[in-house]
Amino acid sequence: MPYPHWLVVEDERFSSLVLFNGQLDHLWHAGHWCEGPAYFAAGRYLLWSDIPNDRILRYDENDGHVSTFRQPSAFSNGQALDLEGRLITCEHGSRSVTRTEHNGCITTLADTFEGCRLNSPNDVIVKSDGSIWFTDPSYGIDSDYEGGKRRSQMGCHVYCLTVAGELIRVADDLEKPNGLAFSPDEAWLYVSDTGATHRDDGPRHIRRFLVEDGYRLSGGDVFAESDSGLFDGFRVDVAGNLWASAGDGVHCYAPDGTRLGRILIPETVANVCFGGISRNRLYICATTSLYALTLNTRGHHVIGEAVAPSDIRTSKRA
Ligand code: MG
Repeated sequence: MPYPHWLVVEDERFSSLVLFNGQLDHLWHAGHWCEGPAYFAAGRYLLWSDIPNDRILRYDENDGHVSTFRQPSAFSNGQALDLEGRLITCEHGSRSVTRTEHNGCITTLADTFEGCRLNSPNDVIVKSDGSIWFTDPSYGIDSDYEGGKRRSQMGCHVYCLTVAGELIRVADDLEKPNGLAFSPDEAWLYVSDTGATHRDDGPRHIRRFLVEDGYRLSGGDVFAESDSGLFDGFRVDVAGNLWASAGDGVHCYAPDGTRLGRILIPETVANVCFGGISRNRLYICATTSLYALTLNTRGHHVIGEAVAPSDIRTSKRA
């Protein structure tokens, strides 16, 4: 069967990950820079940031309704869920990483390192041990558009907030560290570098680090180089394939670094997130819009990844 024009198969392996009859849904379009998607399985809704408009939005998967979850949002950017299902948020405005508690209170988890203010935490992930890993480029303090223009107190690095509450700088050789994700076995950490926003021949790639002793990184070779815009946020599926944002859509890479294919989106993509009842729905934050596409694979996630709702029903009947 022919694929739709917006689905580009570049390696035969991509055919098993996509559906030839899948629909690319344009769900919403009134944002200025959509980013930071996080999916809540229990409520079947997606939260995402519209950074310049200083708000977090909520898409209800049950009825398609979009509403405002939080405004102002301290110019929130990347988001994730921790092991207890609490929302972890990168905030440009407060230059911090926060946690929204079950009672709605917001707790600051990290805003300084060695006495200096963080720049503007950009994207965040949670490891299976509960540690919180985030990037800290300067985009939220470069201008007032995505936060507030401020002076940077230090370089742009990658951090880990350990379960003991210690903030560790885990990588300091990136120009503008941005999206990040672990391989499913957490042996590798992928980090994108969007340094080309500030230097024409700056980095526009994803690097891959070996994770040792929990928090120590080594290696860091370039894993993938973008030929369309920049890699911003990305996620990993259960087989370890990367689904990365890019200038012309979403690029899918096998763990061996081969680009398998692309999903062409008519707007620059900033981030993606797996959701849906089977975690096979790829939500795509693209400039003004939210798109979604059902795939023939599932997103990797440390919370509940092994048990899909259909499996739960089956086990209850047994
Ligand atoms: Mg980002």
